[in-house]
Parts: sequence; structure tokens; C-alpha cells
Amino acid sequence: MYKIIDNQTGLAISEHLTRKLAQNKADRLDNIYGAVRYIVQNTPRVFSLEDIEASIEASTGFCVACGEESDCIEPDARNYPCEGCGKDEVFGGEELIIMGYVE
Ligand SMILES: [Zn+2]
Repeated sequence: MYKIIDNQTGLAISEHLTRKLAQNKADRLDNIYGAVRYIVQNTPRVFSLEDIEASIEASTGFCVACGEESDCIEPDARNYPCEGCGKDEVFGGEELIIMGYVE
């Protein structure tokens, strides 16, 4: 998941967002202040068990590099390409559990 950092204070103003949502929100805030002040950052790659269970059922997977969810990923998929960051770091839900990416 992603969070938004206020560049002036160094504090996170919003957390647990998807990349798209975080970027939209940061852009909107930047427009209000008329400056690039809000930075989108990755948060550590840990997924909740509910997210993993839902992803196994829906055949989606998560990228451990950026947190983006991808469609059409088998639960035992490993190192699939990520549409978000381009890295081959998308894994299926069962693999994420085995690898310890679940909180
Ligand atoms: Zn990614």
C-alpha cells in the first residue's frame, strides 16, 4: 500500500491507499498549495490475511515491490510482471503466505 508524506513536516497525512488513490490525492493537494509538497511513498510490503484470502478467491495477486494488485494471477504464481512498477514481483496469495508477506 501507499502513503502520502507532507514534504514540509515529514509526517504521513494519509496511509493504506492504493497507488492510484494516493497519487490522485497528492496531486489534488499539490494543486491547492500550488507546489509539489505531497510525496507518495511505498509502505512496507505486508498484506492482511483478508486481502490474501480475497485475492486467492478472485485469482488476483500482489506485487511485493509496490503493492499493486494484478488480475488473473493463480494462487501459486511467482514472479509475474507488475503493471504498476514493471518489476517481476507479482505473487499469488498462497505464495505470499508461504513467503511470510501476511501480517
Ligand atoms: Zn509493482
